[in-house]
Amino acid sequence: MTNAPITLGPMPDANGYFGEYGGSFIPPNLSAAMADISKAYDEITKREDFQAELHSLFANYVGRPSPIFHAKRLSDKLGGAQIHLKREDLNHTGAHKINHCLGEALLAKFMNKKKVIAETGAGQHGVALATACALVGIPCEIHMGQVDIEKEHPNTTKIRILGATLVPVTRGQATLKEAVDNAFEEYLKNPEDYFYAIGSIVGPDPFPRMVRDFQSIVGKEAREQFQDTHGKLPDIVAACVGGGSNAIGLFTAFLNDASVKIVGVEPAGKSLDVVGQHAATLTKGKPGVIHGMRCYVLEDSEGVPSAVHSIASGLDYPGIGPQHSYLKDAGRVTYETASDKETLDAFMELSHVEGIIPALESAHAVAWAIRTAPTLPKDTHILINLSGRGDKDADYVAKLLNI
Ligand SMILES: *Cc1c(COP(=O)(O)O)cnc(C)c1O
Repeated sequence: MTNAPITLGPMPDANGYFGEYGGSFIPPNLSAAMADISKAYDEITKREDFQAELHSLFANYVGRPSPIFHAKRLSDKLGGAQIHLKREDLNHTGAHKINHCLGEALLAKFMNKKKVIAETGAGQHGVALATACALVGIPCEIHMGQVDIEKEHPNTTKIRILGATLVPVTRGQATLKEAVDNAFEEYLKNPEDYFYAIGSIVGPDPFPRMVRDFQSIVGKEAREQFQDTHGKLPDIVAACVGGGSNAIGLFTAFLNDASVKIVGVEPAGKSLDVVGQHAATLTKGKPGVIHGMRCYVLEDSEGVPSAVHSIASGLDYPGIGPQHSYLKDAGRVTYETASDKETLDAFMELSHVEGIIPALESAHAVAWAIRTAPTLPKDTHILINLSGRGDKDADYVAKLLNI
């Protein structure tokens, strides 16, 4: 790597590539549908009526802008850098996902689609999407593995209460992979009338850029808020990385600020040294193709996407957004990890010291900050994206820790 200043042009290119990553690796019968979404996305999201409606919903429905909170007690206790939290946990539905789900549901409505389809694993994407579709007034169908349906009880109930159709998938392992297959088959029955809503910055073009653009409100706000309060930019911004949507949402506004260090935090799970015991795709994977895109992939010894594990089900994914794959190779973003154990400690620490129960996903970024802050001077400012609240995880953690 050279020391040349980093200048990042508009990404992706006209073919949906971020450097060598991204693109569109899909069966021919899907190409037309994706090209259609791409074109509609470019046209519709430039329209003033679309942007006005989306931003009004961000303000009056989601509750944006979300505040930035200085975690002073935690920072003082650690005795080093100052930790600040971008409070996406305070959004309606309790996480950042509502930002892109509203964008996608609204786009589907503007495209006159008859139904929005998606899969969900732990149910977080399902709830956010069912919420957005209820509001926008468009039918929503969520495909979910039977095994996950039984595990994720509060979320499945919410999806039904919100008026979405929950489709149980019983084939194979009856978890996320089969749910994806099932949802895709349904979508392929009528791509003209249906809209497939992806839950992160993954999949074929245009989804990685579409979901990023809808999420970029997070960093746009944070940059302005921080500048207003502190008269300068944060020194470091950091976020947890599953597919990478909350991270890219924060990072995008800072990519060309050479003074700002950017850190993504991947789940090291139980062990980084054992395939299947973590989900640290950029740390341990290599370039490949998964779910219609080229990106880093975690593979087993036979070259198929490996089993993954994280204490946070939202980070449990063997691929990663193509833009993160690019930013890693370009050296613009540093990707670190936090283990299950460190994450649990961070979950409890933030709850005890600041009265904020974070999502286990977000607690990965908090864990990294807790580890790093003591090594830095007191006038260094770290801004963490607190991507969601931990109500959904409270019972699980209590059981694990026997409290
Ligand atoms: C889904 C989820 C994530 C992981 O998804 P990304 O696309 O990597 O952001 C992180 N935090 C929360 C709270 C989530 O619900």
